[in-house]
Amino acid sequence: MGMSATTLTKAAWCLATFLLVTLASTLVMGGCAGGGGGAGTGVGSGAGSGSGVGGVRRDGAALWAVAIHGGAGTLDRGAPAEQIKAYRAALEGALAEATARLERGEAAVDVAQAVVMRLEDDAKFNAGVGAAFTAEGGHELDASIMEGHTLRCGAVAGVTTVRSPIGLARLVMDRTRHVLLAGAGAERFADGMGVARVRNAHFDTPRRREMWEQWKREQAGATSAAIMGTPDVRFGTVGCVVLDVRGHLASATSTGGLTGKRWGRVGDSPVIGAGTYADARVAVSCTGTGEEFIRHGVARALASRVELAGESVDEAARHLVFKVLKPDDGGLIAVDAGGSISTPYNSEGMYRAGASSRGVRFVSIWQE
Ligand code: ASP
Repeated sequence: MGMSATTLTKAAWCLATFLLVTLASTLVMGGCAGGGGGAGTGVGSGAGSGSGVGGVRRDGAALWAVAIHGGAGTLDRGAPAEQIKAYRAALEGALAEATARLERGEAAVDVAQAVVMRLEDDAKFNAGVGAAFTAEGGHELDASIMEGHTLRCGAVAGVTTVRSPIGLARLVMDRTRHVLLAGAGAERFADGMGVARVRNAHFDTPRRREMWEQWKREQAGATSAAIMGTPDVRFGTVGCVVLDVRGHLASATSTGGLTGKRWGRVGDSPVIGAGTYADARVAVSCTGTGEEFIRHGVARALASRVELAGESVDEAARHLVFKVLKPDDGGLIAVDAGGSISTPYNSEGMYRAGASSRGVRFVSIWQE
């Protein structure tokens, strides 16, 4: 009635596109929505977003959002322009990949994993290749991944020969009934999974070796406080939080940890609820002094503030970063089911990028 043929065709086209995207994401997710664990937190897809149902905006366009971090330990502002440019380009590349995947209708957990894998292979960041050196001069890698609407999650700590720790964390999530596998056991699990393995030296880079040498020099005369020369020495991690077009959230985090760590030290990155968390309302990935993020259960605390105190994702994130954590502890990225992104940090800078289908787009290192 009163509707032109063009309007009808357009409406049918929109509906068909949405159904296709929904079907595609269900297939990509391998039907995991009901399986594996956790009953979710009782919030349906996209609920609470004020933006329509199932990640679809009222205007019919699919709603998605993504944020990425490359760690809270950044270059000095005075660093050579070439170096700054290279970091920005890496973040731009990761953001472009995430955006393309989301526009194709990929599931949040797959997008988060793909972005983190990409950054693990980028020697500029402290995860995978380019990981920090332990006190003994090796690399021990930590990672975790979580899917919000199912509360399914997986993590590995202290792995030394797995090319992609986040890939192994995903397998823990998908193929075991456990959440966190550590050290030799995680390596044995990797043996059975046919994942790519490398010699530990594969993760070496001259820059991180230089930081390790600097750390050793500082150790020679030093208390632990003196270890912490530049922020770059202290921090570094990569993470990605995603809201997909079905209204599902996911978070992934991967790190080489802190330079000079010893005794099998494990940071917050593989600890669900500390460095990584996702539920039906928010997805969070943290970076900074892991011990502080574990102590305050930062990622889960953020989700609780949103759920129980009714705070917005930004209010909750800022409260944790500026009121609970101490200056210079680090920062986090978070996204909610309505597509809002928050990226607060209390360090000098934080490599970060974000985009959403609402036209948000940023790539930043410091307060610009
Ligand atoms: N949070 C990581 C850890 O403590 C390091 C970082 O994010 O920079 O292992």
